[in-house]
Amino acid sequence: MSQKNLIALAPGDGIGPEIMNATLDLFKAAGVMDHADFVPVDMGRTVFDKGDTRGMTDAAIRTVEDCGVLFKGPMETPKGGGGKSINVTLRKLFNAYANLRHFKTLPGVPTVYSKAGITMDFYIVRENIEDTYGGVEHRLSNDMIQCKRLISAPGSDMVHRFAFHAARTMGIPRVHCGHKANIMKMTDGLFLERFRACAKDFPEVETGDVIIDALCMNLVVKPQQYRMIVLPNLQGDIVSDLAAGLVGGLGFAPSANIGRHINIFEAVHGTAPDIAGKGIANPTSLILSGLMMLRHVGLLKHAAVIENALLNALESGVHTGDFGDSTAPNYKPAVNTAGFTRALIDRLGEKPRTVAAVPVPETDRWTLQKPIRPQHQQVVRTFANVVTHVVGCDIYLDTPLSPVAVADEMSRAAADTPFQLTLISNRGTQVWPTGSVYTECVDYYRVRFELKKDVAPGAIGQSRAVALMDKVAEKFTVCSFELLRTFDGVKGYSMAQGQ
Ligand code: NAP
Repeated sequence: MSQKNLIALAPGDGIGPEIMNATLDLFKAAGVMDHADFVPVDMGRTVFDKGDTRGMTDAAIRTVEDCGVLFKGPMETPKGGGGKSINVTLRKLFNAYANLRHFKTLPGVPTVYSKAGITMDFYIVRENIEDTYGGVEHRLSNDMIQCKRLISAPGSDMVHRFAFHAARTMGIPRVHCGHKANIMKMTDGLFLERFRACAKDFPEVETGDVIIDALCMNLVVKPQQYRMIVLPNLQGDIVSDLAAGLVGGLGFAPSANIGRHINIFEAVHGTAPDIAGKGIANPTSLILSGLMMLRHVGLLKHAAVIENALLNALESGVHTGDFGDSTAPNYKPAVNTAGFTRALIDRLGEKPRTVAAVPVPETDRWTLQKPIRPQHQQVVRTFANVVTHVVGCDIYLDTPLSPVAVADEMSRAAADTPFQLTLISNRGTQVWPTGSVYTECVDYYRVRFELKKDVAPGAIGQSRAVALMDKVAEKFTVCSFELLRTFDGVKGYSMAQGQ
């Protein structure tokens, strides 16, 4: 081979270096290093400790960009001090918009389901960048904190298209969209609407949608009914840990963070600080994530050989201390990380006997093509040429006044403007013009102004709404402001609860 391909490598913190060494030893024994070199990058705790709040150096960022693939161990999130999760930062920085996680029943990994003869093999595709993971949070008043939930049409399109494409490629017959569109009609509503729109390009894939709470129950009661579920970020995070529990725990759940240019492969679990340095961690999740990576770059033969060795070892009763079936006839005492890895290396070339072996292709070839580095950040759009009109504004106030007193002040502020006060809500519940005296209020109000009846949509621009906010700000603390607009005649804002 003339030139080796490069994979950026970050061993991680806690148990990260132990399970990464185990995985690389296995890969080396299987011949993966004949095709690729792993290039170490500085990321994680040592970088945070030097005062870099990103947890990664500029050189590390550049190396990942150049390689296009990052294989990483779990990394610790600094407690306090403002440092954000490096794991989330990496996904967002490199636009790894879809998180693909595979949940499969493994031999030798007992669960209540496997003991009942129920096997599972399904995927979760989690949107990876948006939602509350935008991390846009503000203190708005003495008593109120806000986290913005951002869901975009292009972000939803990218994750749905990835899911459908993956389903088509892997022969998965149906994809479900999990959501809470019955409550969050606009954000989850958009996520669901884009799912349905993207589905039209994949007519051979069956689709369904399911409300997130029902999904959680269904997964526990009848998990076999799902093959692939696509979810917004936070819901995907929670449901995928639930799914990991169904197949034996976090130690068995691999994940791939897929982007247009850069892909990140990592275990689902964290740094497990309680067992770090003891050499007893289970490397299976990272090994399985590494297999997703090998398949992604085209090394299908190596991936199949290693997976068969892993299945053979597991069914033979090889296990680390965190799992194992002490009632199985072939029960063996637990081994440490190195012992587990040795057992897999010894089995390279062998196939499992109790479950289907993974077909091993004749040859291996690195097929991943690196896309051309963009000149600058791209602006992606789903909808263009939409006609919008300003029809009002929501002004958010930090005040301990009662709703009636706020209404008096706001009606006065709106006099001689194109707007009239139409609604006051507190924590999303309408408290003026109608409401219940039993609704308790906090020190943060939304006051809604809409165009007076004789002012047509489109007759005024946003500056009149900003001028109204200025006027309100003369007497009140304005925490935030949102324009109310119509988009092709459809209201781009929600109603209050009880309105
Ligand atoms: P965790 O590291 O996943 O560990 C939770 C528990 O699961 C461990 O205490 C250990 O339990 C068990 N465990 C996890 N992985 C294991 C393995 N490979 N082998 C054997 N046992 C394993 O979760 P956490 O304690 O909530 O988080 C610790 C740190 O990791 C935090 O700083 C968090 O931010 C970070 N984290 C990073 C990532 C990532 O890098 N993508 C993901 C999640 C969390 P017992 O020993 O008690 O059985």
